[in-house]
Amino acid sequence: ARNVVKRFGKPANFMRASSLVHAVSNVSLSVRRGETLAIVGESGCGKSTLGRVLLRLLEPTSGQVFYEGTEITALGQREMRRLRRELQIIFQDPFASLNPRMSVRQILAEPIRLHRVATGRAVDERVDDLMRTVGLRSDWADRYAHEFSGGQRQRIGIARALAGGPKLIVGDEPVSALDVSIQAQVVNLLGELKQDFGLTLLIVAHDLAVIRHMSDRVAVMYLGEVVELASADNVYEAPLHPYTAALLQAIPVSNPSARGQRQLLQGDVPSPTAPPSGCRFHTRCPHARPRCTEDHPQLETAGDGRQVACHFWREIQSAGVSVPARGE
Ligand code: SF4
Ligand code: MG
Repeated sequence: ARNVVKRFGKPANFMRASSLVHAVSNVSLSVRRGETLAIVGESGCGKSTLGRVLLRLLEPTSGQVFYEGTEITALGQREMRRLRRELQIIFQDPFASLNPRMSVRQILAEPIRLHRVATGRAVDERVDDLMRTVGLRSDWADRYAHEFSGGQRQRIGIARALAGGPKLIVGDEPVSALDVSIQAQVVNLLGELKQDFGLTLLIVAHDLAVIRHMSDRVAVMYLGEVVELASADNVYEAPLHPYTAALLQAIPVSNPSARGQRQLLQGDVPSPTAPPSGCRFHTRCPHARPRCTEDHPQLETAGDGRQVACHFWREIQSAGVSVPARGE
């Protein structure tokens, strides 16, 4: 993605104020073949929108998206359709994303036919294969989606994404609608499928807990911007951006005695129709200084292939403060 911008709504005119939502603001990043890149941030940060723009399920307002050297934002409908089989999505809500009037066999046969993976009788065999691949019994394919549990439905959603033989799958919070006890199973399934089929995964998530063991790199988004991008190890062990540190603090801890020391992120996310001036995080940042309200920090390279958008990451890091210290 190069300088991707996505806005929704209408700009101001003499009749009314702007209702423009700045969903994604000038994001540039790359997803490497074979990796799992997680995009993490609170709701409204633009992470799902970015995921859709990268697949060109949404048109960017400006900027470019490239896939294996081809600018897909410049492709016509027909060329895009041909690429579609390689670029798939798994939706957040497995209850809403499967047509209740279709059997699972019909749901899975559709992309198989569309992408000409198989024809005739071979379609049914392919459906049966897909069912087994995602850990479901093939003879269940003739049932309807409502006959399955949430976790099973998400497996069907994953089977549908696999049907055309994809290379890149975007998972839009693929487990956040599921019971916690089921989440790990689906995360593990995604990990296995990634290995077996040589997939590249982009996983959108609203917290850092779920994706901890599956991501190679993590991009942290705040109000439409990437504020930190680094290897998962760096993000979890030594975050550079105060917002990343705050998200880490929000991960539930199992040790009750450690709970009292946690400082959760204060305040609400400001409206994306009117993002704060300067650093967009300054209204909630425990390290904010006067400069932060005026001067917008750019994503800069911080060594070790890491990127961070904060004026004071060096000072914050050398002070050994990796967690918010508001009130101290
Ligand atoms: Fe906080 Fe300022 Fe850094 Fe923004 S630039 S994260 S407000 S210290
Ligand atoms: Mg979302």
